[in-house]
Amino acid sequence: MNYQNNLEFAKQQDQVDPLKDFRSRFLIPQHKGEDVIYLCGNSLGLQPTSAQQHINDQLDNWKNLAVEGWFQGDDPWLDYHKSLSGSIARIVGAQENEVAVMNSLTVNLHLLMVSFYKPDSKRYKVIMEGGAFPSDQYAMESQVKYHGYDPADAIIEIFPREGELTLRTEDIVNSIQQNQNELALVLFGGINYYTGQFFDLKAIADAAHNVGAYAGFDLAHAAGNVPLQLHDWGADFACWCSYKYMNSGPGGVSGIFVHEKHFTDKQLNRFAGWWGYRQDKRFLMAPGFDPAIGANGWQVSTAPILLLSLFKASMTIFDALGDMNILRKKSLLLTGYLEFLINEINFNNGEEIFKIITPADPASRGCQLSVVCKRKAKATFNFLAENGVIGDWREPDVIRLSPVPLYNTFQDVYKTAQLLNNSITAV
Ligand SMILES: *Cc1c(COP(=O)(O)O)cnc(C)c1O
Repeated sequence: MNYQNNLEFAKQQDQVDPLKDFRSRFLIPQHKGEDVIYLCGNSLGLQPTSAQQHINDQLDNWKNLAVEGWFQGDDPWLDYHKSLSGSIARIVGAQENEVAVMNSLTVNLHLLMVSFYKPDSKRYKVIMEGGAFPSDQYAMESQVKYHGYDPADAIIEIFPREGELTLRTEDIVNSIQQNQNELALVLFGGINYYTGQFFDLKAIADAAHNVGAYAGFDLAHAAGNVPLQLHDWGADFACWCSYKYMNSGPGGVSGIFVHEKHFTDKQLNRFAGWWGYRQDKRFLMAPGFDPAIGANGWQVSTAPILLLSLFKASMTIFDALGDMNILRKKSLLLTGYLEFLINEINFNNGEEIFKIITPADPASRGCQLSVVCKRKAKATFNFLAENGVIGDWREPDVIRLSPVPLYNTFQDVYKTAQLLNNSITAV
C-alpha cells in the first residue's frame, strides 16, 4: 500500500476498513472525555461490550438453578468449556479435540512439561529463545531442577548474532542440530514479548522432530494476533493466555493444544484430576485414571464458569470474524502504517530517534512494534500517556505499541505518530 502521512488518508482508510464495525463491540476507556488510543492489547485486551451480559447470565443461572446449573439452562456448565473449543481451534489452527480451555498459562506450561519434558541421562537438554518471558524461564528452570538436572547445563538459550536484534531461523535450526543427541525439548514463544518477533514455528517443529525432540510453543503473544496452524505444523503441544489478544479479562482462562498424535500415548505422564477423566464415566468415581481422549484429558479441575463466560463474550466476536486471515489482512496494513509513520519521523528529523527493533519483514511479526526511544525514553512514554495514548513500557528504553485490528483505527495510529513527533520538541 502507498501510505500517506496525513489525517485525511487515515480517515479514508478507516472508512473503507471492512472490520470498522468491530470497534463498537468493545468498551474503550476515556481520557478527558474522549476515547483513549489503546495500543496495549498485547498486555490486556479491551472488554467486549457483551462481557457484562455474559457474566450476568451465569450469575443468574447460579441464582436460579444453583447446582442444577451443571446440567440445566441454555448452556449447562458441565460442557461450558467445550462450547469454546471450536472458536479457539480456529484461532490456533487445530482440530477441536486438540484444544482444551483450562487453568492459567504458566500452570498449563508446567502441566504440559510433565508430559513432554521427560529427561533421561542422555536426552535432558532444552532449547529456548534467549530472553524468553520471565515466567517461562522460571517454569523451565524449576522443571529442570525438579528432574535433578542443572539449569546452567540443561537449558540452552539462543540469542541474536552480534549486532543483530532478532533471531535467525537458521541459527535456531543449527543449534537444534548441534545438540541433536542430548536434546529433549524445544520450547519457544510464538511471538517474543519484547521484540515482537514471530518465529517460524513450522521450521522449529520440523528441526526438533528431525533430532527426536519434542516441540512446544508458548503462544501468549501469538494467539488471536496472527494466523497459526498448530496441527499442520506438527507442534507437539502449545499453550497461551486469553487475556492479551483474546480479550477475556484480567487473569482470564488459558488454553492448551496437544497434537492428536499423542492422544493414545500411554507413556506420557500426566498430573491428573477428575475433570480430565472420560466424561461418560466421571461420576462413577472409580479408582484408576482413565483420561478423556483429546486435549480435555489434560484437564485437572472444575471449570471456572464465570471466567469462561467472559472468554465466551470475546469468542463470539472472533466467531463473527470467521477467519484469522481477515484479521491478519487489516493487521498487516495497520502495523505497516505505524512503521511507515515512525520511519517518516526519523527521516524528517535526519536521524533515527525511534528505532523499531521488531523485524521489518511483516511475516516475522504480529501487530506489535517495539520502539527504542533514543532520547528521553521514559519522558516520551509519559508524554504519550498524558495525551491519551496507552502503550506499554519496558525497561530500559522500549515502548511497545500494538495496534489491534479488532478495535484500533488508522486514525489511532496516525495520532500516535503525531504525538511521537511532537514529543521531540515537547519533552
Ligand atoms: C503474558 C505471558 C505469560 C503470563 O503467564 P500467566 O501464567 O498468565 O501469568 C507467560 N508467558 C508469556 C510468554 C507471556 O507473554
